[in-house]
Amino acid sequence: MALNPQITRRYQEKLLAQKQLLEKTMSAAVVQGRETVTDDTQDVADQAVISYQKELLFSQGTSGHHQLRLVHEALSRMRDGSFGECVHCGEEIGGKRLEALPWTPYCIVCQEKIENGELEDPARAA
Ligand SMILES: [Zn+2]
Repeated sequence: MALNPQITRRYQEKLLAQKQLLEKTMSAAVVQGRETVTDDTQDVADQAVISYQKELLFSQGTSGHHQLRLVHEALSRMRDGSFGECVHCGEEIGGKRLEALPWTPYCIVCQEKIENGELEDPARAA
């Protein structure tokens, strides 16, 4: 599928931002496990983003490591030109879905099947 280069760039920026955020969130989680947080080097907005991100991760039941891997995989699909296609069925992933979850490897149909247990999630099983 030939995505518009401008759109691809936008997704790429989102993916890179997400990657940074995840890396930061995970290192913050590690730090918080070790010491009480009186960290004034981190600004409030940052912390808000991080705690939001954590909630999001937990509510999705997805570990940061798992999501980080999805982000890496999406970036590599972007390099090989298959970004935007469902890795399972090859169908185009909808623009809105990519907009919200640019790292998703599946179209909505396959995602639902995975959630219903009708389809094994190879990314998760691997
Ligand atoms: Zn699919």
